Amino acid sequence: MATKERQDVEPPRPRRMCVYCQELTDRPVFVDAVEQGTGPGWAVYACPSCAHRFRPDFAARESERRR
Ligand SMILES: [Zn+2]
Repeated sequence: MATKERQDVEPPRPRRMCVYCQELTDRPVFVDAVEQGTGPGWAVYACPSCAHRFRPDFAARESERRR
């Protein structure tokens, strides 16, 4: 079975600051959404290294992808 990697054709993602280590990452992982009662909320992102701290399920998927 030929599973083709499609990383080359993925569009570049905007950089986000990791909420945990404060480093900019071009592979932000959505971990939370902050909602305000009086206005629009915002999304909280983490870098792939820190994402598992917020989303335990993400660590499993990352290790799968790195094979
Ligand atoms: Zn981080």
